Amino acid sequence: MSQLKYCQGPKCHTYDTQDRKKGPKDNKRNETRRRSSFYYLNGNACSMTCQADWFDTYGSRALQHFGYISQPRVLTKDNAWRVQRDWQAEGNDRYYAYNHLTAERRDITQQQYDNDSLITDDGRLTI
Ligand SMILES: [Zn+2]
Repeated sequence: MSQLKYCQGPKCHTYDTQDRKKGPKDNKRNETRRRSSFYYLNGNACSMTCQADWFDTYGSRALQHFGYISQPRVLTKDNAWRVQRDWQAEGNDRYYAYNHLTAERRDITQQQYDNDSLITDDGRLTI
């Protein structure tokens, strides 16, 4: 069973919906939503609005924390690889590494296709 967690949207409690209302008649208040799972902000916000509020409040600080890029990122033939699968009938699927800059195809096995380290996070082929 998963634990309940709070929406991380800094203004979540300010949106006036029935499910946010808590407390007795003489002490009504709205609270941040609490759920076992959320769809937004990598599972941390209850709505696109709360996700956008989080980014408006914390996005610049997150960039400062993790660092701005100071050079352009570059896609070349060396880091333009991805795995592809041609779906065929009766288990005859074909697997290959595909370079989407040069259109080169290299046949690979299903085991290589399933191996997350065949292609690095930045698109380099390791075989
Ligand atoms: Zn929220």
